[in-house]
Amino acid sequence: MFQIQIPSLRPMTTAHLAQTMTLLSMTSVELAQKIEAELANNPALELVEERRCPSCGRVLRDPGPCPICSRPHGDSSSPIVFVSARSDFYQPGAGPMSGHGQDLVPDEYMSASEDLPTYILRQIAPELQPTERNIAAHILTSLNEDGLLSIPIEEISHYQHVPAERVIEVVRLIQRADPLGCGSENVQQALLAQIEILSETRPVPELARAAIEQGFKHLSRRQYSELANILQISRSEAEGIAQFISDNLYPFPARAHWGDIRHGEESAPAVYHQPDIVISRLKSQTGSPLVVEILMPLYGTLQVNPAFQKEISRIHDELKEKWKLSLEQANLLIKCIQQRNNIVQRLLEYLAIHQRDFILNGDQYLKPLTRAQVAETLEVHESTISRAVSSKTAQLPSGRIVPLEMFFDRSLHIRATLRSIIAQENRALTDTQLANLLAKQGYPIARRTVAKYRAMEGILPANLRRTTPA
Ligand SMILES: [Zn+2]
Repeated sequence: MFQIQIPSLRPMTTAHLAQTMTLLSMTSVELAQKIEAELANNPALELVEERRCPSCGRVLRDPGPCPICSRPHGDSSSPIVFVSARSDFYQPGAGPMSGHGQDLVPDEYMSASEDLPTYILRQIAPELQPTERNIAAHILTSLNEDGLLSIPIEEISHYQHVPAERVIEVVRLIQRADPLGCGSENVQQALLAQIEILSETRPVPELARAAIEQGFKHLSRRQYSELANILQISRSEAEGIAQFISDNLYPFPARAHWGDIRHGEESAPAVYHQPDIVISRLKSQTGSPLVVEILMPLYGTLQVNPAFQKEISRIHDELKEKWKLSLEQANLLIKCIQQRNNIVQRLLEYLAIHQRDFILNGDQYLKPLTRAQVAETLEVHESTISRAVSSKTAQLPSGRIVPLEMFFDRSLHIRATLRSIIAQENRALTDTQLANLLAKQGYPIARRTVAKYRAMEGILPANLRRTTPA
């Protein structure tokens, strides 16, 4: 049925398995970082400029995907699924995290612009408990143009009937999303959130945090002598800290990227994302196969350095052990990356067939699907599927980028049906009546669950719902 014959999974050693599992849960950006780090640390590993197709190993002379693997085959509705070597995805030396990585993404990967709440919600959605979605929506719709909270936490807590701590937990998630620090109650809190996150990835001056916490007033008024007094450092040291803060932190997080989010559609800035998977249609007519491209963030081909392999027999014993280890690690990494790609490819083949209607026609066509079902069909462990799905995004033919997790969201389908029932109602139906109608359509869910889904969709209860005359 598929053109690419993927070898069945052989038993893996523990090290092999562990590394494959780690690689599997990485997004393509994270994978690129991991490979960069390995290349920097392991002399046995090298990246040659020759582009090879990660699916079939063929040398690719022209830019673009492998002409063989991206070709339609078999019966006309089989999806074409392949791992794609991108010559233009990342440039050499310019890691995806080097600051302007987004500029390198070609036009075809750019999605339509979206507003700030949607942009943030999409990032944190995989981490939200179902019960936290309303809280997140409440917080995000209460951001002012600076990206700061315009209402007190207590108000959200009161309205959502949850303790303030729950709201604060969701605020923390939002603060960690891009742009960093949104959802904070004030500028000081936004700066503190940013510095906390920044310090996880790079060195931050020791007293920067204290300067914001204790000397905020002076910091914002550029009173460096007073700031120096509070921190018991020299004036020039205080100036250095203030400089670091102004260079690296954004007091108004939303403006770092977004300008004024209250502006209308036209001025909404475009946000570009890198999906891990791009799904398109081969041709526009119905029945045309889906083309699923799994993006491999490698510029060139990863291989074991042949010179290194040759030299190893000639060197003395002490160094030999060290070299052997490097060689083993290089081999293992290459194997594990292939294994990762194989699993993602098989998963996507399954999803492209099973959720074709959803991919082409939207949420309402999502079929109920569990990770366990997929795991059983593909003969892998359920946790393997979970990892392959986690934190990855797919761009649908419509241009919309969705988390891969959405392919498994049962409630999404029920909620879409619920929406359509309510859209067609002549008089406002109670949750009990809605539950009965849903049961008739194959969704036997409790009235309480109907109420929950209705709230998630932002639809009022029957007694508050005004029905428009049909
Ligand atoms: Zn190929």
